[in-house]
Amino acid sequence: MRMVDIIEKKARAESLSYDEIAFAVGGLVRDEVPDYQMSALLMAIRLNGMDDRETADMTRVMMDSGDVIDLSDLPGVKVDKHSTGGVGDTTTLVVAPLVAACGGTVAKMSGRGLSFTGGTLDKLESFPGLCVEQSIDSFKRIVRETGVAVIGQSDNLVPADKKIYSLRDVTATVDSIPLIAASIMSKKLAAGTDAIVLDVKTGSGAFMRTVEEAQRLGKLMVALGNQLGRRVVAVLTDMNQPLGLAVGNALEAREAIQLLAGQIPAGDPLYEVCMLLGVQMLRLSGLADSDEAAKTMLGTALHSGAGLEKLRAMITAEGGDASYASPERMDALCKVKRLVPVYPKEGGFVASICAEDIGLAAQVLGAGRAAKTDAIDPAVGLVMNVRLGDAVAVDKPLCTLYVNDETNLHAAIEHIQKAVTISAQRPTPIPMVYDVIRDEAI
Ligand code: URA
Ligand code: CA
Repeated sequence: MRMVDIIEKKARAESLSYDEIAFAVGGLVRDEVPDYQMSALLMAIRLNGMDDRETADMTRVMMDSGDVIDLSDLPGVKVDKHSTGGVGDTTTLVVAPLVAACGGTVAKMSGRGLSFTGGTLDKLESFPGLCVEQSIDSFKRIVRETGVAVIGQSDNLVPADKKIYSLRDVTATVDSIPLIAASIMSKKLAAGTDAIVLDVKTGSGAFMRTVEEAQRLGKLMVALGNQLGRRVVAVLTDMNQPLGLAVGNALEAREAIQLLAGQIPAGDPLYEVCMLLGVQMLRLSGLADSDEAAKTMLGTALHSGAGLEKLRAMITAEGGDASYASPERMDALCKVKRLVPVYPKEGGFVASICAEDIGLAAQVLGAGRAAKTDAIDPAVGLVMNVRLGDAVAVDKPLCTLYVNDETNLHAAIEHIQKAVTISAQRPTPIPMVYDVIRDEAI
C-alpha cells in the first residue's frame, strides 16, 4: 500500500477502506508516514468528507492507537460528559460532583483550553496543590472512594489524535465534522466509560456555528458510541454568549462554587445547562427513570450542599486545598492588581455577543494560551455584567476585566467592544437548548 494512492483516492472523493485508514493513521503514529502526506490526506478529507462507515473506522483506528482504559472493575455505570468547547463553559465543575452526590459514578478525563475556549484542567488547577496528572490506578481509586474524578488525559491516550490535531490546527482542517467526531469519540471511547453525555455547543463561541452542523455532529457521535456498545446522549446547547458570566480559570471555578452553594437561581443559563446535563447523566446511569425524577434528585443534592461536599472531596483526593471551595474563600484566588470596567459606546439593548471575542479578551489577559507552552494566570479574565437582550447605558459596564499584566489591556478592551453589538430594539430571545439526541433516534 502507498500513502500517495490513498491521498489520490480521497482526492477523487472515494471511500477509504479500513485498511487504508489504518495504514495512514498507524503510519503517522509510527513516524512511517510523514506529516506532509497526512496533511494532504486531511485536506482531502476536509474537502470531500467521509461517510459514516469511514468515520467509524477512523474512530476505531485512532482509539486503538494507544491505551484503552478498562474501568470494568469499578462498580456501577461509569459515566462521562464532554463539551465540544465553549466560553464560560464551567459545567463539569458543577455537574460532575452533583451527579456523584446523587449516587452516580463519574470518571472523566479532561483537556486543556484550546484557542479561545477554556479547559477544565486549567480551572481545576486554580485550587492550590491540586494535581490533574494522576495514574490510572489513582484515577480508579478516587472514583471508587469519592464517586467522582476529573483528571488529565494519560499521555498515551489516543496518540494518533495528538498528532492529527496538531496538523489540523495549522493546515485549516479543524473544521471537518467527521474529523471532529473521530477526534472526540476516539478519546471518549478510549477513556472507558459505559455512558457518555455530549454537550455540543453551537453559535458564535463554538466550532459549530449553526444548529444544523451541530445536529450532524451530535447524531454522528451518538452513532459512533452506539457502534462500540456505549450509551450516548448529545445535547445541543447555545454558545452565542458566554454560558456563565465568568471567563477565566479561578473566576469560573468561583462561579461553579457559587452555583453549588445555591447562590445562582434556576433560569440562569449555566444553572439550566448543568441541570440538563445532570439529568441525562443520571438517566444513562439508570439512577432515575424520568427527567422529572432526575431533576428532583439534582435539586436535592444542590440545596443540601451534598454537591459542594463532593467537589471538596474530589479536590482533596487530587491533592488540592478544598478549604478554598466556598464562594468567600474563592475571592482570595481571584485577587488581581486592577479591576477595569469596560463601558459600551452607546445605550440600547445587547443584540449580539461574539463569545469567541469574549474568550479572546480573557485569553490575552493571560487566562488562556496562544501557544501550547504558555503559562496561564489563574486569577485573570473577566466577569460579564450583561447577557443577550439586556438594556445597557454608557455609564453601566458591559463587563469587568480582572488584570494583573497590563501589556494586552487595550487589546482586551477592543475585543470586548467588538464582541458586543447594541441595538435600539430589544432582540427576540434565543433558546438555551436546541435539541437532545438520544440513541433511539439513530
Ligand atoms: N475537540 C476535540 O477534541 N477535537 C476536535 O477536533 C474538536 C474539538
Ligand atoms: Ca440505537
